[in-house]
Formats: sequence, structure tokens, C-alpha cells
Amino acid sequence: MQINRNFEFKAAYAWEIMPKLIQAPNVVIATLWADALKVEGIVASVQRQYLSGVAGELPPDQCLPEVWIQDAAQEARARELLHHLQYVPQRRWQCACGELVEGGFEQCWACGTWMPG
Ligand SMILES: [Zn+2]
Repeated sequence: MQINRNFEFKAAYAWEIMPKLIQAPNVVIATLWADALKVEGIVASVQRQYLSGVAGELPPDQCLPEVWIQDAAQEARARELLHHLQYVPQRRWQCACGELVEGGFEQCWACGTWMPG
């Protein structure tokens, strides 16, 4: 099984030197994700964002911005964080007092009740 092990090692290494993380639907979201990673101590950057000016000359899937991280050792954690960012439920909820709370607040501004569950 020595050959297989070597192959797996090389594949893993090739991935680690280019830790492309995730493709974002637009630069705004890509920047948001990169900033969120930086807050967590992960050095991240947005790539391809400057190609948007020539988007009409490129296949659409090559124009989308991507969030890359600098340190491959942080990739697993970065992916986990981005997963949470992508699937975080819409922060809009109705309080028991009838107030519709929007904008990311976890506490009702009318009565002070915390967002349920
Ligand atoms: Zn309330």
C-alpha cells in the first residue's frame, strides 16, 4: 500500500499550497466572509474581484470572487466558519409582544425579550 499512501500525500500537499476556500456570489459577500475570517484570526483575502470590469469577456464562473486563506493549516476552521456564515438563519423574528425584530438583533428592542431558541 506504499504507492497509495504516497499518492494521497501528494494530493493533500497540492491542495495545501493553494487553499482556495469558497466561491462567493459577489464581491460584497466575499469581502464580508473574508472580514469575518479575519475577526477569527484567519488571514483571508478576496481574489478575482478586480476582474469584474471585464466580466463580459469571461465565462461567468471565472468572474466570481473567491475567498482564499493564507495559512492552509487554518483551512478546516475557516471552512467551518464560512459554513456557519452561509447557513445562518435570517435574523428576522417576531417577538411575543408583537414586534418584528430585524437587522441582526437578538433582543427585542420593544420589550427586551431575547430571541427564542
Ligand atoms: Zn418584544
